[in-house]
Amino acid sequence: MSLELETDVPLRAFNTFGIEATARRLVRVRSARDVRLVVDHPEWGRSPKFILGGGSNVLFTRDIDDAVVVKTEIRGLRVLEDDARSTLIEVGAGEPWHDVVIWALEQGFAGLENLALIPGTAGAAPVQNIGAYGLELSDRLESVDVVDLVTGRSATLPAAHCRLGYRDSIFKRELAGKSVITAIRLRLPKPWAPVAGYADVARWLQREQISDPSPHDVFKAVCAIRTSKLPDPAQLGNAGSFFKNPVVNRTIRNEILEEHPDIVSYPLDDGTYKLAAAWMIAACGWKGQTLGRAGVHEQQPLVLVNRGGATGANVLELARAVQDSVEQKFGLRLEPEPVIL
Ligand SMILES: Cc1cc2nc3c(=O)[nH]c(=O)nc-3n(C[C@H](O)[C@H](O)[C@H](O)COP(=O)(O)OP(=O)(O)OC[C@H]3O[C@@H](n4cnc5c(N)ncnc54)[C@H](O)[C@@H]3O)c2cc1C
Repeated sequence: MSLELETDVPLRAFNTFGIEATARRLVRVRSARDVRLVVDHPEWGRSPKFILGGGSNVLFTRDIDDAVVVKTEIRGLRVLEDDARSTLIEVGAGEPWHDVVIWALEQGFAGLENLALIPGTAGAAPVQNIGAYGLELSDRLESVDVVDLVTGRSATLPAAHCRLGYRDSIFKRELAGKSVITAIRLRLPKPWAPVAGYADVARWLQREQISDPSPHDVFKAVCAIRTSKLPDPAQLGNAGSFFKNPVVNRTIRNEILEEHPDIVSYPLDDGTYKLAAAWMIAACGWKGQTLGRAGVHEQQPLVLVNRGGATGANVLELARAVQDSVEQKFGLRLEPEPVIL
């Protein structure tokens, strides 16, 4: 089958902020072969590319005129290995991430439940090393299949080569727009042990009087917590956390603590500290505020929302105002998490 090339495609339905923008050229890829066909295309092949999954971690501030938007719709879910020590599954890049979590649970393969309800596609999961409730993709990722957007060559990158960090990877840096992730492999270790130490999860399980949680209990806990705290993009446009939590060394953390003794921070294994950006934003008085048509969510101030008809520029203006206030009060500039175009 030949490629379906589309022009002047509205992107509003393709980003969870619900921002209006247009892609001058868009192509849906349904296999690694399709990606190679794009690379070999006489007109589109040489243009820069922007890879779009579910659009749940992007902010469009303009039309995409210069780049070809490559929308990943590669499906497929299969078990490659299953023995006493682990299960290895392979997932097409276009599979909706939450459906992967449910599918794995239904097959009896536990280990992804803490990452339930994260919007977007499986192929984007390594890009910012998705994480939630005490688990990161890096805890489960085995390898990633990519197709190079210049040479059309396929390669398999072991997880160790993906430089996965806190909401970071090689795909957000050197390989951004250069390689399309076409499939990922996840290794789910056995025996399963719950990751239930995260305060919200522990509290939920305690309230439900569950002392020995099953994978399904953890899944239910995570879904319940997320649904109660985070706005549903179908109701209120957003891209989840708009800012990363700043990571600082002990000296900086102690300096900030002296002036702001209530600040919420978590020690990390390497001796640094993660500061709660949500707390800092709330301390600057931004919780529930609105600027133009963009706003700071009432319950979760890390989330910026589209209050209706916001442009990318509106959201960006609000983001900068929040960054300025936090910098003035705490001496740290918050870093945005979504990709801003
Ligand atoms: C309500 C809500 C809650 C969220 N909660 C969390 C959370 O708890 N934890 C978390 O980590 N994130 C969270 N997010 C952010 C988002 O869901 C994740 O970052 C998700 O992985 C993005 O997937 P996507 O398919 O929508 O990617 P997109 O937004 O389409 O793309 C994001 C980036 O990845 C690149 N990309 C996408 N697909 C590919 C591919 N196949 N190959 C190469 N590059 C690609 C894009 O070019 C872009 O740079 C949340 C978002 C929302 C809206």
